[in-house]
Amino acid sequence: MIPFLDLKGINAQYRNELIEAATQVIDSGWYVQGTHVKAFEHEFADYCGTKHCIGVANGLDALILVLRAWKELGRLKEGDEVIVPANTYIASILAITENRLKPILVEPDEHTYNLAPGLIEQAITANTKAILAVHLYGQLAPMPEIMAMAKKHNLLVLEDSAQAHGAQIDGKKAGNWGDASGFSFYPGKNLGALGDAGAVTTNDDALAQTIRALGNYGSHKKYENLYLGVNSRLDEMQAALLRVKLKHLDQETKRRQQIAAMYCEGINNPSIALPIQDSKLNIKHCASHVWHLFVIRTTEREKLQTYLTEQGIQTLIHYPIAPHHQKAYQAWSNQSYPITEAIHNQVLSLPISPVMPINDCEKVISALNEWCLDD
Ligand SMILES: *Cc1c(COP(=O)(O)O)cnc(C)c1O
Repeated sequence: MIPFLDLKGINAQYRNELIEAATQVIDSGWYVQGTHVKAFEHEFADYCGTKHCIGVANGLDALILVLRAWKELGRLKEGDEVIVPANTYIASILAITENRLKPILVEPDEHTYNLAPGLIEQAITANTKAILAVHLYGQLAPMPEIMAMAKKHNLLVLEDSAQAHGAQIDGKKAGNWGDASGFSFYPGKNLGALGDAGAVTTNDDALAQTIRALGNYGSHKKYENLYLGVNSRLDEMQAALLRVKLKHLDQETKRRQQIAAMYCEGINNPSIALPIQDSKLNIKHCASHVWHLFVIRTTEREKLQTYLTEQGIQTLIHYPIAPHHQKAYQAWSNQSYPITEAIHNQVLSLPISPVMPINDCEKVISALNEWCLDD
């Protein structure tokens, strides 16, 4: 079986370095809020080009804490509208509703699956206060246009960079475009810990301070509590392991890009639509895709997935149910988002990883090219 993602193989590449890092933490006797977290925060902020990085427990918390901090700072209040793509992973939307803000679901661009400036503009009202721009599948949303629009309408911009570590437009990376950004280091993400982990990046000093306090019981100073905070911290073990993984991230991204290029050149079945890079549509900017996922589209998705399984190729669907059709958001069940619904019915993610053998990539390409809709 060609696995969708060989996580064991990815981490096995760095087995010795990871064991060395874990041993250091075990032997240090210091497991929370220590030197590895501080060092990782520094290194990841450097990597993104931002002034601050604040380690938190996971990617969802990163997004929740940014919005919460903006409320504490008086920049948002309950009921304010936040624009978010209707086809995002549910965590982006959970961060909004958790803060009692109002998500305004907006259809994405049907080619890039990211927010489209024209469709955002139509959704802006007097109550709109922020845009949550998701960099879905590893490609940045059109940030130059989104930032210009945010400036014009005086909106905050939060990036959901959980799938886009290192992706850039004109040399500026994910996490350094908006007023703040949330990252996930869930094991399967491009920069993956060996457990749950996340971070916020920002260039805003006040925001960074507030998030740090909120994630530490609301305390900015030991035993003094400014806010009704939570406990959401990155721990020393995950930080130490992430420092190892971060050193290899760019090399891993290159391998993903090589596989994606092979897929794009090799797959030529007229029943299958390939992913479209924004940079190919929009020649004004130079963008890089980090291929967290390689997502194809077909109207016969179930048939194609069954066929690939029979061929020994594991695929996944990102995502099978649109957020507005989830039971958790029952109140939205009669809303209609045709582009989003078509995406959820048609997308299929092919195996892609930094350790995928070229041979396997060729097998996937042949299997797809031999697939006949009438079979
Ligand atoms: C993974 C993911 C999250 C949530 O991150 P966790 O670390 O799993 O909490 C949020 N948004 C997107 C787009 C994601 O892919």
